Amino acid sequence: MWKFDHSYLQLPETFYSKVEETPVQSPKMFMWNDELAKEIGLDDLHEQEKVDVFSGSELPESSAKIAQAYAGHQFGNFTMLGDGRALLIGEQQKPNGERVDIQLKGSGRTPYSRSGDGRAALKPMLREYVISEAMHGLGVPTTRSLAVVTTGELVHRETALQGAILTRVASSHLRVGTFEYARALKDDSMLKDLADYAIQRHTPQFQSADNRYAYFLDEVIKRQAKLVSQWQLVGFIHGVMNTDNMTISGETIDYGPCAFMDTYDPRTVFSSIDQDARYAYSNQPYMANWNLARLAEALVPLLSDSQQEGVEIAQEAIGRFKDLYQIEMIQGMRSKLGLMSEESGDGELIGELLSQMEQRKTDFTNTFRALTLREWAETGLYGTKRFDDWLENYEARLSRQEATKEEVMSQMKRVNPAIIPRNHIVEDVLRHANQGDSSHLIQFVEALKDPYSYSSDHDSYTKPPEGHQPYTTYCGT
Ligand code: AMP
Ligand code: MG
Ligand code: MG
Repeated sequence: MWKFDHSYLQLPETFYSKVEETPVQSPKMFMWNDELAKEIGLDDLHEQEKVDVFSGSELPESSAKIAQAYAGHQFGNFTMLGDGRALLIGEQQKPNGERVDIQLKGSGRTPYSRSGDGRAALKPMLREYVISEAMHGLGVPTTRSLAVVTTGELVHRETALQGAILTRVASSHLRVGTFEYARALKDDSMLKDLADYAIQRHTPQFQSADNRYAYFLDEVIKRQAKLVSQWQLVGFIHGVMNTDNMTISGETIDYGPCAFMDTYDPRTVFSSIDQDARYAYSNQPYMANWNLARLAEALVPLLSDSQQEGVEIAQEAIGRFKDLYQIEMIQGMRSKLGLMSEESGDGELIGELLSQMEQRKTDFTNTFRALTLREWAETGLYGTKRFDDWLENYEARLSRQEATKEEVMSQMKRVNPAIIPRNHIVEDVLRHANQGDSSHLIQFVEALKDPYSYSSDHDSYTKPPEGHQPYTTYCGT
C-alpha cells in the first residue's frame, strides 16, 4: 500500500519547508481515479483512509509533509516562489518499480503562501482532473490526477466557492524554476546537489558520465521540444508557461488557465491574465525555448569541461531546441496526414492546409478528423478551388507511398483525436458537478480515456461550440 520514500529530503533544507497538515471540516471524496490508484499500488486503501489522507486531514505515518521551494520567471519577471498551496506527502514506489510524487494541491498555507490562503476551489480542481486525464488519454506526458476531495469549507475569491483538494501524481515536481532557485542561492554546491538529484531521478543513465550536466540539459531540452510539439499537434494551450510551471521530467504540469483550441487560429489565447498574448498557441515553442534558456543559464557553473566554457556549452544546447522541435512537429504533422514516407514538399503541403484552416476558421480537431475519415465535405474547407487543388496534391502525395488507404486511415486515427476536452463541454460538466451532479463529468472523463476511438457513442462531445463567443479562462479561482 503506502510505499513511501523521501529521496527529495536528501537535498539541503533550503530546498523545502516542513509543513503540518491542516485538517478540513467535512471532507468527502468527489472524484477517485481507480485505474491510476491501481497503477501506483494504492487501490487497497479503505474509503475512510482515502478521505482522511487526500483531504490532508490525517496523513500516513510514513509521509513526509513538505512544501518545495522554487523560483520562476512569471510572465518574464524573476521571483522567488515555492508551493504556496501544495503539500508533498511522499514518493510512492509503484509496483513496477518507478517512483512518483504524491502531492496535495489546495491543502492549506505554507511558508511560501505569501498573501494566498493555500486553498483551492472545487471547479478548478475538477478542471485539472479532467484536462490532465484527457492529456494522458491523448498520450501527452502529464502529471495525473488521483483524487478530488471536497473540504466542506468555503474559499473566498470574488465570491464564496466550495473548497477542494486535488491529489496530483507526478514523476517529480522538479521544475526549471527549481534550478533557478538553486542558482539564486549563489552556492554552486547547492546547484550541484540539485542537478545530481535530478539526474538520479530522471536521467540515471548519465550518472557516471563526466559531462553529465550537459547530457542532462540536452535531455530536458529534447523532452520539452517533444512535449510542446505534442501540445501543438492536439491544439493544447497551456496558458501560463512560466518557468516554475515547466518540469524537468518533460511532463505537462499546472493546469490553471489551459484550454484546447476549437477554431484554428495560431494567435489563440484563453487566459484572462495573459494580456500580451505571451503564451498564445503559436508562441508556445518560443516560450519553451526561452524557459529552457533560463535552465541552461542556471546550469552554467556546472557545464564547463576541459574543452569549453560553460556558457558556450549552454548556448549550443539551447541552439538545438529549434531543430529538435521542428523535426518533431513535421513528423507529427506528417502522421496527422497519414504520410508515412518523407518528401521535400511535405512542409508546403502541411503549411497550405494550415493556412486554409486559418483563413476559413475551421475547427482544428474536426478538420483532421474529417481528413482521417476522408469526409472531405466535413473538413470545413470544401467547395473552393484552393481546397480542390490541395486535395489533388494530397491524394497524389498519398498515392506515391506504399501504404493502402486503410493503412493510412488507421495511422491517422492513432494521432487525430475524435474527441478532446472542448471548453464548452468542460464548462457544462463542471457546472453540473459544482451543483452536486457529477454523472456528466464521470461520463466525460470515461470517454476521454479513449479519444482516438472514433465511436459514434461520443458524437455529442465532438461538436464545436455554437457561434464564436470568445472563451476566457482564469487561474486561482
Ligand atoms: P501558478 O501560477 O499556479 O503556477 O502559481 C504561482 C504561485 O502562486 C505558486 O507558488 C503557487 O503555489 C502560488 N499560489 C497560487 N494560488 C495560491 C493560493 N491560493 N494560496 C497560496 N499560494 C498560491
Ligand atoms: Mg505553478
Ligand atoms: Mg497553478
